Amino acid sequence: MTRRRWIADEVSGDRAALVGAHADHLVRVLRARIGESFDIATGQALRRGRITSVNEDRVEFDLGEVISAAPLAKITLVLAIFKFDRLEWAIEKCTELGVSRIVPVISRRTDAHLAAASMKRVERWRPIARQAAEQSRRAAPPEIAAPIKLSDALNLPEALRVVLAESEEQTLLRDVLQAHATAGGIALAVGPEGGWAEDELQLFQQAGWISASLGNTILRAETAAIAAIAVAASTLFSF
Ligand code: SAH
Repeated sequence: MTRRRWIADEVSGDRAALVGAHADHLVRVLRARIGESFDIATGQALRRGRITSVNEDRVEFDLGEVISAAPLAKITLVLAIFKFDRLEWAIEKCTELGVSRIVPVISRRTDAHLAAASMKRVERWRPIARQAAEQSRRAAPPEIAAPIKLSDALNLPEALRVVLAESEEQTLLRDVLQAHATAGGIALAVGPEGGWAEDELQLFQQAGWISASLGNTILRAETAAIAAIAVAASTLFSF
């Protein structure tokens, strides 16, 4: 079992702090004490941190040795917005599996109310990702981008871009990943509950995305997202 890890809210030289609810959790739930050690992710590095002061809304650390952090493959998930409870579950699980960035997109079949509400809701998604990153001992949370229209996501810069489509019958995601060099990172797109519309799949294709399948069963959107990240992380991962 590795040491518990926190992503610092404030860093200055060899000192770091957790503040607000983050500190409160450490103080009240974990009963943190002065002198206790944790791993602290500073944004630049992962370091050993020793608690120097404890208050309800602020815990301070002295930072010591740098600990080597496990590298993660560069995986961007373009995720059509769907029902928030399930979407948030997908964000948490994909973070555990190592996704580096999540770009929520408003697709043709994204419910209009959800699309409108997503602009604010993203504030909830970032703490979910941060907590999952800490829990899974990542050095940093994935970036959660502000929601954008699908048309604005089609030109992402990743070297390999794959749209997951349940209508795809020839090509498996695993085979696409094994066949292509992926030094420039990859982007994976997963549709909403109703799937991608036919013209959206054409737009992906015109923009150079490869269409791929996750297998013979039709998965719910959140399952598809988690499965796609698991396949990509296991294919691209190296120690
Ligand atoms: N409404 C559709 C299913 C949509 S599933 C139906 O019931 O027929 C939601 C999203 O999950 C899809 O847009 C796709 O991106 C992904 N997905 C689900 N199953 C998949 C599979 N077997 N292969 C690839 N993608 C899949």
